[in-house]
Formats: sequence, C-alpha cells, structure tokens
Amino acid sequence: MGGRRFLQILLDVPFRGPLDYDGGAVLMPPAADPIGLRCVVPLGRRKMVGVIVGAADRTALDAARIKPVSQLLVDIEPLSPHWLALTRFAAEYYQHPWGEVALPALPPALRQLPGPRYAGALSRLRSRSLRTGSETTDHASARVALNAEQAACVQQLGADAGFMPTLLYGVTGSGKTEVYLSAIEHRLEADPRAQALLLVPEINLTPQLEAQVRARFPAFGVVALHSGLAAGQRASAWLAAHEGRARVVVGTRLAVFASLPRLALLVVDEEHDPSYKAGEGVRYSARDLAVKRAQMLGIPVVLGSATPSIETWAHARSGRYRLLTLRQRAVTEAWIAPTIELVDPGASIDASGMAPPIQRALEATLQQGEQSLVFLNRRGYAPVVACEACGWLSHCPHCAAFAVFHKPDRTLRCHHCGWSSTVPRRCPTCGNTALQGVGRGTQRIEESVQHLLPSARVLRIDRDSTRRRDSAADAFDAVHRGKVDVLVGTQMIAKGHDFRNVALVVVLNADSQLASHDFRASERLFATLVQVIGRAGRSGRASRALLQTRFPQHPLFAALVRRDYAAFADTLLAERGRAGMPPATHQALLTAEAPTLDAAIGFLRMAVEQAGAPAAVTLYDPVPMAMVRRAGIERAQLLVEAAQRSPLQTFLREWLSVLRAQKSRVRWQIEVDPAEI
Ligand code: ADP
Ligand code: ZN
Ligand code: ZN
Repeated sequence: MGGRRFLQILLDVPFRGPLDYDGGAVLMPPAADPIGLRCVVPLGRRKMVGVIVGAADRTALDAARIKPVSQLLVDIEPLSPHWLALTRFAAEYYQHPWGEVALPALPPALRQLPGPRYAGALSRLRSRSLRTGSETTDHASARVALNAEQAACVQQLGADAGFMPTLLYGVTGSGKTEVYLSAIEHRLEADPRAQALLLVPEINLTPQLEAQVRARFPAFGVVALHSGLAAGQRASAWLAAHEGRARVVVGTRLAVFASLPRLALLVVDEEHDPSYKAGEGVRYSARDLAVKRAQMLGIPVVLGSATPSIETWAHARSGRYRLLTLRQRAVTEAWIAPTIELVDPGASIDASGMAPPIQRALEATLQQGEQSLVFLNRRGYAPVVACEACGWLSHCPHCAAFAVFHKPDRTLRCHHCGWSSTVPRRCPTCGNTALQGVGRGTQRIEESVQHLLPSARVLRIDRDSTRRRDSAADAFDAVHRGKVDVLVGTQMIAKGHDFRNVALVVVLNADSQLASHDFRASERLFATLVQVIGRAGRSGRASRALLQTRFPQHPLFAALVRRDYAAFADTLLAERGRAGMPPATHQALLTAEAPTLDAAIGFLRMAVEQAGAPAAVTLYDPVPMAMVRRAGIERAQLLVEAAQRSPLQTFLREWLSVLRAQKSRVRWQIEVDPAEI
C-alpha cells in the first residue's frame, strides 16, 4: 500500500495547531495543490468548515484513526500563502490558536457548512455589482489641487519600493485624506491589478469615507468591510477583494485580515485610535498587524494621525519609520483654527456645572445663530445616586462600580454589566426620601443647557440617545441641516463629522481623565481633545474652544493651547523611557476571572510559580484589577514585562502551554501589548 494524502486542517476550535485528515478520497487529481482551500470535515459528531494549511504524502502509523475529509470546497480561489502566514503570525504573536484567528477572519457565510442552496447563494454574492461612482455625495468628488506640502508627501510615498513604514503626522484639517487617496491612486494606476487597503477606526465613519473614495475612484472597485454589514454584503465585499474585483477596501480593524491577493499599499487612518485594538477574543492590534503585513509583503504602509500613538512616535523618532509632516491646514480660507481657552471654574460654579464664561459663550453663540458643541465623556444623568442622610450610594449589585442614574426612564443602570432597576423612592438603608444624583452626565448637561437657553434647540447624542437603528445618522443629519443649536454629546460627536457651522466647542470633564491610573490616559486625552476641538472652525468664521479645568497649568493643556503635540509626545516618550514603560519595554497581561478574588489571585500566584525565574522577563505580583468585580465575577491581573520582544514571546509560548495543561477552573486570558493596565 502506498502513502496516503494527509491534510493539515485549521478549524475554529481551541486547539493549538491544525488537525490531520485523510484527503485521499476528495483530492482528484492527487497532484492538485489543496493548500488554502476550504473543506468540510467531521469533528466528533459535528461537521465543520476548515482551511487546509498543509499536505503530506506519508504512511501514518495510526491511519485508522484519521478521518477522511468529507468535502473539498473548490468554489473560491484558495487563500494565499501570505494570508495563511499573516493569520499564523497573528496567532503566534497574540498567543491564540491559529484556527481561532483564521476562521473568524473569513466572512460568516464562508465558514458555515454549505447547505443545499450554497452554490446559488455564492453566485448571487459574486454577481452583486460593486456599486460605482454614480451615487453622488456631499463630499465633492472633484479632486483638489494638492498644496506643496501634500504634493511633497505624495511624491515621497510614490517613490517607495519595498517595505517602507511612514508616519504621516498632520494637524486636523491638513488634508491627510487627500494624501492617502493620491498615494493610493498612484499605486493603482501604476499596476492595473494592484489593491489598496485603507483602515479607519469607526464603523460610523466608513460609509462617509467609502462614499468619498468611491466618488474619487469610479473605475476601481471600492468595497467597505466592517462588522456592521449584513452577512450577504460582507461576504460579497470580501469575495470581491479576494477575487481582485475590488481594488480598494475601506474597513475597520477586522479588514486587516481581508484576503487581498494583490495588496500593494496599506493605510491606517487615525492610527492612534484605541479601537484598532480588539477588545475580546484574540486581542490583536490592527495597526500593528498592518505594519507587519506590509513587512511580510515588502510594500509601503502609511500611518496617519494628528496625535500619533507614543509607540508610533517612538519609531518615527528613532528613524525606523519615516516621518512626513503636514504643518498647514489645507483649506486656509474656509477653515480657521479655533482659539483654545482654559476656564478654571474656581469656586464660582453654579448648579449647571458650567463656569460663567462658558455660559456666556453659549448665549453669544446662540444669538449669532451659530452652533455650539458641548462635549462630556459620561453618559446618563448623574454617575451615582446618594442618600444625604446615611451615605448610601447606588452600587451595581454585580460590579465594583456605581449604577448610573438615567433620568428619562428613572432607572439606575450599570454601564459595565447592563443591570438596571428603577430608582428607589426611598433610601434602601434608612428610608430617607431625599436621594440626590451626584455629578453630571450628558443628560444633566442637556437639561442645564436647555434651562440656560430656553429658546435653543438642544440635541443630545450618546449611546443612549442613538440606540434605535439609524438614529445616530438622523441626529447628525439634523446637525448638518442646521436644525440644532447646541449639540451635547460623548465621544460619539468627537470623531470625523464634518460639522460646517460649529463656532463654539465646550469641553466639560477633561480633568477626570487626568486622574486616571492608566499610563496611556494623557496621550488619549490629548487625542480626544484635539478631535473635539477640531469640530469647530470649519465655517470660515472665528471660533472658540473652551476647556473647563481646575488644572490650567497642567503641561498637557499648555501643549494643547500651543498646538504642539510633537513636544508633548517627546516628553511622554522620555518619561516612558525613564519609568521603563512601553514603548521602552514590552508587556503582556495575564488576567484571571473567578467567583472569588482569592481564587483569581491564587491562579495567578500558581502561574508565577510555574514561570520559575525566566531570563530577561519580569513577572510582577498578581493584583486585583482596577474594577475588581464585573457581572459577579472577581478579576485579577498579572503583568509580565521584558526589555526585548523576543524573550517575552519565547517565555509566553512555553509558560502558556504549561498553564493550558493545568486544567484550572479559573478562566484566564492573555493580552500581548495590553491597551490598558
Ligand atoms: P485631515 O484628515 O488631515 O484632518 P482632511 O483630509 O479631512 O484633513 O481635509 C480637510 C479638508 O480640507 C477637507 O474638506 C478636504 O477636502 C480639504 N482639502 C484637503 N486638501 C486640500 C487642498 N489641497 N486644497 C483644498 N482643500 C483641501
Ligand atoms: Zn440613607
Ligand atoms: Zn454591573
């Protein structure tokens, strides 16, 4: 008997590597290369879709135990060796099973078992036309003439050959998007099959940008890829990219795994944005993987931001990344940067929570018929309800956190686990009826603004006001059409939206982030403030940004007023170096979740013991997480740190395989390059 054809197949299961199957029966002719094809295989009593990642002719000793592949799916082109290598790299780097990285990176329609109507469905997906530039948008599709700075950047990017990471650092409104689009156009015209991938942080922004890109490039197929798409749309967009019909993909972080066989250029817009880091499952950074992908392919990658992450800034300063800078605003005549003023509320603040200069500015802006935007990163009415008689506070019963007062339906709601309950009429401990909401959220500020400006049309935009499908789009539309005088909102109003008539931006609780224990908090605060302030000044008239803070001398605010992020980033970088924090060191965070804190900490102690004394790697003491209890589960963490990446990777691989073998009942997970500590 000769050798049989064994296939190594990846499945979406928590095993470390691919599983062996017998491909003899389905591989006809036997010489065909099956790598990268999908197939259906049995696993236990189930059948699953897998991806073939290896093949070998050999005589297995226990061939009897190896099950045959049920069906080979040859209806789409095989996934490329590069795609397999990319998902494998991500799996190894982020210490996650390869199959659990690769399979979820395919659109759901292509990882489900093919049913009887499968072939028909696939051909319908293929025949969906990629909408072309016929739809018009308010974003003029007409190309602008690049200014000298932009042209210089595009020229440098156009000359790139091979792997070349670039940081495009440019103030808000400096026209980075034009640079990306021109660079993409350059590549795609030079090679009629080349593809480009443009990553953006927010689902909400993809339709806007997608429309802009499509209008700009009517001849190139343009598709969007993000998790908000319906299954059919997502599969057809994915297929169009995989088959080269789409030459530009605009997508959120999951699109970094899109199959793009002719990828020639990667762009990551707003590269500092925390949403590039996945919050569950495999905790990858799409920004970092984009750079890795470019390196694997030997192609250029552009990271753009007005407030680059300190990690990226460090690479630009060390010369590992090329730094290109846009210093001027692109549209000088219509776009006047707002003045930035710091307002110390001192003792003079009234119940509205807004200092008198802010109240006066809101009044004046209304009188001039212009729009104001009030930013506050806290939704709800009041972050906690208190009993003045006995000191009772509205804790969530399941989390180490307060339940937030929501006035419209008079509920207490936990923003961490979703628990909610009506506000008690009396204090649960002492029966007192005078319960007070303490502090301010967007609902309360909305109320205060309406009280201050009775004739104003006030609109609040936050996750509570926009639960209904399309309600966010409707709300933004109302702002664009001038139906709103004062917009009150959270982070949701900070990003991207091109409001044309905002003459005043008010920032209310920036100080709360200054007090954060996370070492990245100030970098994030700066980025958020730059974004929020950037919503003003697009009307061609003078505009103002007022920041209420009790720490007007804080260096962060000083740098903000000087509009000097570079100097601020240099300071942070030096501080991180002195304190031995990333990017000067590399970290991983092991977290444990258990019914009791003792069990969680106990697991981490055991993990420390198992680690022994690894070379060039430091393990810190296990500690409770900042928010120790969430949804009834106690949580603890263990920080692992190393000066170099490679000993950390080696250590993690061995250590985690020991931990996996422990069969502990404590749930644990690892995050490499943790976003928050
Ligand atoms: P950024 O992403 O750097 O904040 P954008 O790319 O959104 O800036 O550009 C800001 C605005 O300037 C947009 O409305 C864009 O159309 C316009 N713009 C960009 N480049 C030019 C240019 N060279 N001439 C005129 N307008 C431009
Ligand atoms: Zn009480
Ligand atoms: Zn809770």
